[in-house]
Amino acid sequence: MADKTNEILKRRTFAIISHPDAGKTTLTEKFLLYGGAINLAGSVKGKATARHAVSDWMEIEKERGISVTSSVLQFNYDGYCINILDTPGHQDFSEDTYRTLMAADSAVMVIDASKGVEAQTRKLFKVCVMRHIPIFTFINKLDRDANDTFDLLDEIEKELGIATCPINWPIGSGKHFKGVYERGSKEITVFSDTEKGTKEGEMREIPLDSPELDEILDYGQKDKLMEEIELLDGASADFDQELVDKGELTPVFFGSALTNFGVEIFLKHFLSMTTPPLPRKADIGVIDPIKEDFSAFVFKIQANMNKAHRDRIAFMRICSGEFDANMEVYHVQGDRKMRLSQPQQMMAQERHVVDKAYAGDIIGVFDPGVFSIGDTICMPGKKFAFEGIPTFAPEHFARVRQVDTMKRKQFVKGINQIAQEGAIQIFQEFHTGMEEIIVGVVGVLQFEVLKYRLKNEYNVDIILENLPYEHIRWIENEEIDLDKLVGTSDMKKVTDLKGRPLLLWVNPWSVGMTLDRNPGLKLTEFGRS
Ligand code: GDP
Repeated sequence: MADKTNEILKRRTFAIISHPDAGKTTLTEKFLLYGGAINLAGSVKGKATARHAVSDWMEIEKERGISVTSSVLQFNYDGYCINILDTPGHQDFSEDTYRTLMAADSAVMVIDASKGVEAQTRKLFKVCVMRHIPIFTFINKLDRDANDTFDLLDEIEKELGIATCPINWPIGSGKHFKGVYERGSKEITVFSDTEKGTKEGEMREIPLDSPELDEILDYGQKDKLMEEIELLDGASADFDQELVDKGELTPVFFGSALTNFGVEIFLKHFLSMTTPPLPRKADIGVIDPIKEDFSAFVFKIQANMNKAHRDRIAFMRICSGEFDANMEVYHVQGDRKMRLSQPQQMMAQERHVVDKAYAGDIIGVFDPGVFSIGDTICMPGKKFAFEGIPTFAPEHFARVRQVDTMKRKQFVKGINQIAQEGAIQIFQEFHTGMEEIIVGVVGVLQFEVLKYRLKNEYNVDIILENLPYEHIRWIENEEIDLDKLVGTSDMKKVTDLKGRPLLLWVNPWSVGMTLDRNPGLKLTEFGRS
């Protein structure tokens, strides 16, 4: 029992979010390095395989050369057991990316110091805010010329609507990057360009008033720093753990993942400021991670693209208790007892079968096709269901047509199945029924996945015709008469798989215009589960 409690208390489960190229992969590798998981961080990411870093782990991803899933990595550091949930970026950005955030207890936001807040960060950030989870900011690439530090913080506050609290402060950037000033200890950690990929490298801390500092800093840097510290102490928000816990204040750190500067400082602070697995809401009340027996929910289903192995893996986040591979569990939505087969976990680079796992951990289990996104698994003795996972707004839409209309049945079956797995969302035009199907996806790659899977698994060829819609909202007050709704010329009325009404628009300003024209209309960006 005490063992179980200790195991749970040392768990930290977080997601890393960023815009592509901000340095998420590099930072993840450096984290693993501190966990002793790999010896030379750089070695896992050669130039030619830049996109296949440690976390792109599933065999099928290697085969296809893309990452279709978000991966999970576990490592130990300083008495903690850390689970990192990676969120794919680039064209493989998909609903999975959003759903992964549902499995995390906090998020690390990586920002490129010369770019500031970018599009994808903004999107992922919204989901974190919806969940009120703590968000930690790592401003990366200080070894390159960076934007003004105050401007960066201002941008985060204005664009993302979260207060910032710098825990340290950079001195110069690019060629003039000298290190970071720790506001707590009033010491300067001096930057030395460590050999790439090693964690050694000199890390020296000297007090702010040390004469040595004058030798290290360039002309004028000391005065600037003193000025900035004064400004900062007067103007910035104080550190407040309670506000951090609610996701209203983000602690900010500066560093350079590539040269491994500021990474360990960040990791240490981060671990002291984050909590063990958080309680989760269920239909019987809040589920305590320690007091309750095993429970988990499915946040991702990974279908195998290989025709010879048409199995699926369901990823679940353990929310409470201890998982034992031999025990019998209860699948709430399927209303049946079962054993989870081939439970797997990712430890550094290796995938292995697990016997035991704890609240905070993520396991992937073989899924014969029984699980859906949001399903609850618990103990047969005490049945309950976790709150579902919301539906996230797709950003690309296409009309789907079959090439061979005789295969209607397979087509409908296939497309519904793929939608249930959560890879795509399907919509019907209001009033016309199943005749016209509109597919919505978060990342365009999912269109390819849909085409490929319908062909391979259901033997159905489709033609996708892109639609110009980019903005979508669910109608919250569903009692509203859709026929009477006064829209804009670029608006389309549709319903989703569950029959809920939605509106699509081409232009962003049409959303506001529609709201103006229909007093009382309530719209939401996340569909309720
Ligand atoms: P991701 O797309 O967010 O995972 O970004 P990566 O970790 O793949 O990094 C994108 C590029 O930026 C790579 O070429 C990295 O070597 C580089 N990079 C990452 N961190 C730093 C840094 O601290 N300084 C510099 N100069 N380059 C970095």
